[in-house]
Parts: sequence; structure tokens; C-alpha cells
Amino acid sequence: MSSHRRDGFTLIELLVVISIIAVLMAILAPSLGRAREQAKFIRCKANLKSYGVLAFMYIEDNDGIMPSAWTSFYNKHGEYRGEPHRYCRWHNPDYDLNLHPEYAGPFWPYLKGKDIHICPSFGKVAKRYGPMHPQHVDEIPIVPNYSYSMNSYLGSTEERPIRVTDIKRHSEVFFFGEENLWITAPYNRFAFNDTAMCVYEQWDSFGTFHLTRDPEEGVTNAVFLDGQARTVHREDSWRYCAPDGQSRSPLAGL
Ligand SMILES: [Zn+2]
Ligand SMILES: [Zn+2]
Repeated sequence: MSSHRRDGFTLIELLVVISIIAVLMAILAPSLGRAREQAKFIRCKANLKSYGVLAFMYIEDNDGIMPSAWTSFYNKHGEYRGEPHRYCRWHNPDYDLNLHPEYAGPFWPYLKGKDIHICPSFGKVAKRYGPMHPQHVDEIPIVPNYSYSMNSYLGSTEERPIRVTDIKRHSEVFFFGEENLWITAPYNRFAFNDTAMCVYEQWDSFGTFHLTRDPEEGVTNAVFLDGQARTVHREDSWRYCAPDGQSRSPLAGL
């Protein structure tokens, strides 16, 4: 009996092995992509949870008074006068708070350096849908400065300070959430721009860009006043906006 020794793979065998690997990669790649998206989504949710914790630290340091939705961590002066391309501010490198602390509001020192003010999935979303923003200026590169906005209904103004203890139903009212970069009637009349989400005014709503192939069909995350971060659907925007649960959906009149 002679043992049959071989020197290696024949070309055919090698080709078979390569094609099997190629098929396996093709099968696995989408699920790896999904797993990556899922991981980013979970980090996005964790970001928002930290956001909530830091916002409460800020509130505590400010005698229980809620921040302003517009000037909490950005746009210190609370106005857009003279600001070129205000709708591109969320992605304009000229307004990067790490480089331009002069624009930072009182909440920014709590967020600074924590690397949580931008959702990990948002870079890709921003590049893809930023140009769809109705007021986008093509010359301004898309480098996100922030990606979460605050429930404007809860925001203090100078004339009307709101205390966190005045607000009821903390577990049913969102604090910070995510918005789409494009307009879909009748859900949002404005796309993501400043740091305020004006659901109550029927201007804005929760975004729909996570965990989806169809950007209108996905979900986003929000942190609530009880400190919990939850995954939300666009239709949830109105019931999670005003503390009495009575925010009117733009769909109600249709
Ligand atoms: Zn996110
Ligand atoms: Zn823009």
C-alpha cells in the first residue's frame, strides 16, 4: 500500500475554496452591516441617557430651572441675526464648539469632551440626507456639530423660567431626541437645524432614520425626563411632547 502524498491544492481546488469563501462573505456581509448598525444604535441610546444625566446636573446647578431649548449648549446669544447659513449650523465647521467656544451655551461645559453630543450613526445619515435639507448650502461641508435637540415645550425663556419640579409625568415626556434632515408632510414643517425640537408647535417630529432601509420607516431614540432613553416612532412625537399628553398631531386634522 503506497501512501499518496500531495504537494498542495490544485488550481481547481483553490478556485473552489475561493468561491466558497466569496459566497460566505456575500451571505455574511449584510448581517455584519446590520450588527454594526445595531451597535451604533445602542451607543446612540446610551449617549442620550448620558445627555439626560448631564442635563439634570446642569438643572440642579441652576436652581431646578430648565435650560432654554435654543441656547442650552449652542447659540449662547439666542439669536440668528447676522449668522450666515443658519440652517447649516448643525454641520458647519465654522460653528464647531471645540474650535469656537464663543458660541457655546451654559450646558456645553457639561457635554464637552464626553463625545456624546453626536449620535454614532449620524455621520452617515448627515452625509446622505444633509443635502436634502431645504436650506442647505452646498459649499458648506457636512461635519456634524451636534445631532440631538431638546423638547422646546420644556425650555425656559428669560420671561418664563420653567422648573423641572413644575413638570408632571416625567416618564411620558421626552427631553432630547433626534430629528430628520428632510421634510415629510405633514409630520415636520422644518428639518433639523437648531437645538430645539418644536413638536408642540407642529413644526418638528421624531426622526425615522435608524435601523431601516426606507428612511421614512425607521426609528430614533429619545431621553425622557425620568432619565430613561427609549426608542421612539415618529407617531409618538405628540403624545410624548406636552406634559398633559395633549399635544395635537398634525394628522389629527386630516
Ligand atoms: Zn441616533
Ligand atoms: Zn446644510
